[in-house]
Amino acid sequence: MRVGTGRDIHRLAENAKTLVLGGVKIDSPRGPLAHSDGDALLHAVIDALLGAAALGDIGDHFSDTDPQYKNADSRQLLRKTAALLSKNKLRVTNIDATVILERPKLGPLKQAMRDNIASDLGLPKNSVNVKAKTAEGLGELGRAEAVAAEAVVMLEEE
Ligand code: MG
Repeated sequence: MRVGTGRDIHRLAENAKTLVLGGVKIDSPRGPLAHSDGDALLHAVIDALLGAAALGDIGDHFSDTDPQYKNADSRQLLRKTAALLSKNKLRVTNIDATVILERPKLGPLKQAMRDNIASDLGLPKNSVNVKAKTAEGLGELGRAEAVAAEAVVMLEEE
């Protein structure tokens, strides 16, 4: 068994990109400032997967200065990460992730995020969990100036 953790944060601004979390478009006046699509949840999950596999971090594989990844769909990056894991004979046991966004409330969208992650990694739905929290008005997250995510994963060697 191997464990890994990941975290990510993106600044939010008006007139920025569409806010996408876990591959789900969110109806929000503020979106992320990012090179890719700025999907903090998927970036945290990818980093946790790479961490558990001892394969470095998301920047090593999908550089935020590489024009190839400008506006990249992070679900594609997640699928590439899945391919990398299977090449290394590693299988995901489970994933637990948390998104922190002040508004809008993500509760109704958690299942869709979970479905996307499970589908991209070829996992049963009960191997993936997504939790949504606010920052209770505290700090930059509480002022809705940013969105953050954390993930923990466990891998098994095949
Ligand atoms: Mg990121």
